[in-house]
Amino acid sequence: MKFSTAAVSLFLLGCSNVCDAFSPASIPSSSSSSSVLYSTTETPKTPTPKKQAGGMSQKKEDRLGFMKNPQYHRRGFKDQRSQVEEEMVTTYKADLVEDLKATTNYMIEKEGVKMYLAKDFGFCWGVERSIALAYEAVDHYSGENKKTLHITNELIHNPEVNDSLEAKNVNLIVKNDATGEKDFSTIQEGDVVILPAFGASYEEMELFDKKNVEVVDTTCPWVSKVWNAIDAHQRKGLTSIMHGKYEHEETIATLSFCTDYICVKNMDEAQMVVDYILAEDDEKNKAEFLEYFKYAISDGFDPDTMLDKVGLANQTTMYKKETKAIGQLFQKALMKQHGPAEVDQHYLEFDTICDATQERQDAVSELVDNATEYGLDFILVVGGWDSSNTAHLLEIPHKAGVRSFHINRADCITADNMITHRTVEGKVATEKFLLTLDDDAEEKDVILGVTSGASTPDGSVQDALSQIFFLKQMASKKLLKN
Ligand code: SF4
Repeated sequence: MKFSTAAVSLFLLGCSNVCDAFSPASIPSSSSSSSVLYSTTETPKTPTPKKQAGGMSQKKEDRLGFMKNPQYHRRGFKDQRSQVEEEMVTTYKADLVEDLKATTNYMIEKEGVKMYLAKDFGFCWGVERSIALAYEAVDHYSGENKKTLHITNELIHNPEVNDSLEAKNVNLIVKNDATGEKDFSTIQEGDVVILPAFGASYEEMELFDKKNVEVVDTTCPWVSKVWNAIDAHQRKGLTSIMHGKYEHEETIATLSFCTDYICVKNMDEAQMVVDYILAEDDEKNKAEFLEYFKYAISDGFDPDTMLDKVGLANQTTMYKKETKAIGQLFQKALMKQHGPAEVDQHYLEFDTICDATQERQDAVSELVDNATEYGLDFILVVGGWDSSNTAHLLEIPHKAGVRSFHINRADCITADNMITHRTVEGKVATEKFLLTLDDDAEEKDVILGVTSGASTPDGSVQDALSQIFFLKQMASKKLLKN
């Protein structure tokens, strides 16, 4: 069984105040890394709480104030725990994936299909915890205690999990495509509002506090850890350099706790900011800079005055290596400007990268490295199309030139041997899937690597693999509709 119910229970029971208990209080060396919180086979390790030095920003003070409200729940509902544990196992356990994990090299060969599973894949600990808390809330506020439940977004970026919550009559409040806004007017006093794994913005938290609703907070503690880093920047008067996608819900929430920030999505954008810092005054084109970053900067952002002292933060699902490289870029630039003795006054970095993301990226890299030896026809990446961490998993084989597909549901693979998938450019495309299934198909094995994002249940992986078995059998019986 992959789902670690005991681990979730341990966390829920044993870590009061953890979301705000650990604040990065020291600058790690370049070789240091965040502790491993969860892997598919290990008991999760809770991040070490660290004492907050000094005071806190007003927004953090407000946030802690919201959380002190007796109607604010962060530790779930014990009365529902055991039945939710059972439900999680029943719903998300997948026998084929368990069989794959039981082999020494995560490989199974049967019925003409040979599949290699990435060593780290699927649900991370933060996602399991978020789903368990949400399910507990649904059960707790039922029967005599019945209340109307809402989630301020999708709970996680996985269609099956979100569908399961809608089937339990939870109202998902997502952005209106036309207006780009969420409509919170349906939330009435006394309702229950669940905050998703990637958190909610300051403004949303403030609104729910005023609306006098019950709040069930499932924000992953690793996301709260980034918020604490941001708080440290603000207290020290630094501008936060956020490595993330400015339109991603987690980044929106994180940046809502910032006063001054600029968000860069990759090395190219980081280089643009560094070039601005290092340019002579007469070389700077401020208007062009502000136009380019107009959606990714705080109100009143002035690159001439606000890039002198900066701190680095990140969306938890970005590439760890890229975040580190961006940090080094800024550190070097500010060292050039102010000298080595002064650089600590101008650049601050905490280690806030979630290891669950990195472990999944490393595991798919390993599959890519072995693609030739294994004879992989392709790598299948399973996970929500909105899931940033899953999209990154696709980029790794794509960059290496290994045929690869990102699907969000098993039915992306159809009986006519076509696959509908999301490309690295973010487009949805349909093409012929198994190229080895032609007239002499029964002679050739289908050989694939498979992985899944941190918000993907094992059942989704199993369903996708079942589709491949089905296609192979159809081809063997000459029944495949090509
Ligand atoms: S991937 Fe996101 S939800 Fe999962 S442990 Fe990391 S920060 Fe938390």
